[in-house]
Amino acid sequence: MSRRAYRAALLHVLDDPSRAPDAAAYHPDGLLVIEDGHVAAFGAYEDLAGDLDETTPVEDLRGHLITPGFVDAHVHFPQVDVMAAWGAQLLDWLHTHTFPAELAFADRTHADAVANFFLGQLLANGTTSALAFCTVHKASVEALFEAALARDMRLIAGKVLMDRHAPTGLTDTVEAGRADTEALIAAWRGKGRLGYAVTPRFAVTSTDAQLAMAGEVLAAHPDVLLHTHMSENAEEIAEVARLFPQARDYLDVDDRHGLLGPRSVFAHCVHASDDALGRMARAGASAAFCPSSNLLLGSGLFSLKRACACGVNTALGTDVGGGGSFSLLHMMGEAYKIGQLQGDSLDPLHAFYLATLAGARALHIDAHVGTLEPGKEADFVVIDLSATPLLARRTAKARTLAETLFVLSILADDRAIARTYLAGRLAHIRTVA
Ligand SMILES: [Zn+2]
Repeated sequence: MSRRAYRAALLHVLDDPSRAPDAAAYHPDGLLVIEDGHVAAFGAYEDLAGDLDETTPVEDLRGHLITPGFVDAHVHFPQVDVMAAWGAQLLDWLHTHTFPAELAFADRTHADAVANFFLGQLLANGTTSALAFCTVHKASVEALFEAALARDMRLIAGKVLMDRHAPTGLTDTVEAGRADTEALIAAWRGKGRLGYAVTPRFAVTSTDAQLAMAGEVLAAHPDVLLHTHMSENAEEIAEVARLFPQARDYLDVDDRHGLLGPRSVFAHCVHASDDALGRMARAGASAAFCPSSNLLLGSGLFSLKRACACGVNTALGTDVGGGGSFSLLHMMGEAYKIGQLQGDSLDPLHAFYLATLAGARALHIDAHVGTLEPGKEADFVVIDLSATPLLARRTAKARTLAETLFVLSILADDRAIARTYLAGRLAHIRTVA
């Protein structure tokens, strides 16, 4: 049995703070006890220290804040090299930057190298779980899963399904898409901490027949997620309306193919109507709000207030490479700015919930991660409140937890992530240049 304890400020939220005001558990001087990769205790140092036997090592990390690892609810691992692409909106951006980059993933050596770099970036930014797009190539999924399994990450990913409106070399067919998806589910789902998501890119690049196939595969595997894009950009929405004239709206295209359900995660939903958001909420589906991507690609302003009012579970995604950072702390700040443009000031604790438990709920992994309750897997982050001279100065002046979190969301990035732990094991330690 391995047992270790960490003394630091501790924070997790146990529910949506916008609906449950007492959802945060915060201990300015706390003790986190880890045993065999799981949380054994979480609480105030003075309450727990006396219970520790003297053989348990206690590391003093005062001056740091320990939180659950962040959950990225929407990200593309093959798009590392299209980050920070200038001057294009969604459809043009896909054809000019993204599709050429994704073509390279036919080469397994390239896919392995990018998968390892990508997971290194997640961990360096404190992200311990993600829902990730791969490419159309089966080998791209195998590369990512192998790399995640070696790190024992709780990661969910899937092969992209596209049978039209994409370059040769990036399209499959209904039957090839089904065969690859089924083979990947059989080989990887439940291995280590991995999970699978059926992943049609979006309605523009799949035929009715392929979307129907995706719905059949989803129905056949009750532990598998559905991961797709929806209502991101005006031009895209017009194209979907042209391609599917019989559908009442964008969401209906997915719904009529069996893709709207409690295990569905729809990235963006920027322009989804209240009616569509209400249908998502009733189905138990989740939205992945990707503020950095929505700003960089000029897609529009997601209304978190409206999504919450409609009852949709909403989580945060980086949407790398549309998004400009791997940092969920940065996404909390970007989400705040998008709210500001709509007269809605996002509460810092709510933002923190979006980046942790809401993401775990969207990915259906909240029984395992997303908080640091005893029994949960010990995926956690050690945040250095003095990582830079500016952070040290500003966090020292913060009078409340909410203020500290807000300062982190505006001023912090990967420099503030001192360490990242996966299942109690040190998976990343910041190196200072
Ligand atoms: Zn995306």
